[in-house]
Amino acid sequence: MVEATQHLKTRCCIVGGGPAGIMLGLLLARTGVQTLVLEKHRDFLRDFRGDTVHPSTLEILNEVGLKQRFDQLPQHRVQKLQALFADGPLVFGDFSTLKPYPYLALVPQWDLLDLLSQEARRYPNFSLLMQAEVTTLVRSGDAVTGVRATTPDGELVVQADLVVACDGRHSTLRAAAGLQSNNLGAPMDVMWFRLPRADTDPDDTFGVAGRGGFLVLLNRNDYWQVACVIPKGQAEEWRRKPIEQFRNNIARRCAMLTPHVDAIQSWDDVKLLEVRVDRLRRWHRPGLLLIGDAAHAMSPIGGVGINLAIQDAVAAANILGPVLQGQSPVEEHMLAAVQKRRMLPTRLMQRVQLIMQRRLIEPALAAKDDGQAARAPAIARFLTKSRLIRTIPARIFGLGFRREHVRRPH
Ligand SMILES: Cc1cc2nc3c(=O)[nH]c(=O)nc-3n(C[C@H](O)[C@H](O)[C@H](O)COP(=O)(O)OP(=O)(O)OC[C@H]3O[C@@H](n4cnc5c(N)ncnc54)[C@H](O)[C@@H]3O)c2cc1C
Repeated sequence: MVEATQHLKTRCCIVGGGPAGIMLGLLLARTGVQTLVLEKHRDFLRDFRGDTVHPSTLEILNEVGLKQRFDQLPQHRVQKLQALFADGPLVFGDFSTLKPYPYLALVPQWDLLDLLSQEARRYPNFSLLMQAEVTTLVRSGDAVTGVRATTPDGELVVQADLVVACDGRHSTLRAAAGLQSNNLGAPMDVMWFRLPRADTDPDDTFGVAGRGGFLVLLNRNDYWQVACVIPKGQAEEWRRKPIEQFRNNIARRCAMLTPHVDAIQSWDDVKLLEVRVDRLRRWHRPGLLLIGDAAHAMSPIGGVGINLAIQDAVAAANILGPVLQGQSPVEEHMLAAVQKRRMLPTRLMQRVQLIMQRRLIEPALAAKDDGQAARAPAIARFLTKSRLIRTIPARIFGLGFRREHVRRPH
């Protein structure tokens, strides 16, 4: 039996229901724009994604009237970021002086997306179609006029005045549009897993400095979310080894975890994040805009990916919302205005991340893993004595550069 192709028409079609796509959908829906979001998964339930909600995003949530409901989500609030070295701990990020939100919140990304999409669904002009995987663009001459997707009910063709690609770091639409990105390089990959937390474990979220690799432990209240940072490309080598070797390595790097490492039963419990840092030279084509990870994949340093994606969405809604509310065509110079607005903060944040990758991470990963914990560089120990200096990384990562605000607050 040949299934009939379904056709839909909308003003704005957003591809990808991650933080960028759902936030943009909500913001456009609030201003009365007919908006359709297509998401390939059946739900938002994916583990080990960007779960670090920074003060810049908390401000946006407040502006759209969702901060109180956000506060009710299960979360752990972090005020100080510290690293444990052989010669003692070192606080290198202090959020406590930031106003009005002196903390970053660790919240499961699916809870945040559920909250945003529930709010968006209150608007009759908003639709979210799950299990709709976009396969390619529909064009008329040079211009993008829609997308083609597969759904459980067959093929779907969506005709739209504007398509916004929010389909993440492996963007299908980026490739379909033939847009070129600059690969800025990353020396590491990250292996993520969960371990149980004992009542006696510290309450902090912290890094454990090591040689040849290091750990970051995120306190998720009832468990530790652990990142094991390894030299780029070594994951395959690790995966060929018995899981016991990996468990022993983790226990050696952080003795506190020794009683818990058996919770990693097989390599299936360890998820790989292939770190990439890249940026599109051009974020648009006629009828098509790319934002979030689809336009710029960020390094995990500072946990800024989700926050930049949301800032992009706010900028796009502020710039494009007024024209999308009417019937006029969305000219390409308006899409270029979104790129112009967001290019500088993206570039600056990636610059900071690249400096940290080169100065801190590369030397740590290049050191021979002799089972010893690393010592803090003397300059780092000296600088982080000053509270003012400890506030600078918190300001950079927590607030970002050129903060966006919702033009039509709640
Ligand atoms: C393992 C991991 C850990 C991370 N940890 C952190 C962290 O601690 N802090 C942080 O800030 N960031 C982290 N990030 C990055 C963060 O998740 C992203 O920067 C952020 O989610 C970007 O949001 P986005 O909406 O642009 O893209 P994404 O969150 O990637 O969302 C893209 C969406 O598009 C959907 N999609 C993809 N292709 C299609 C298609 N063809 N058709 C329809 N839908 C499609 C996907 O299913 C997904 O829902 C992590 C990422 C990963 C992978």
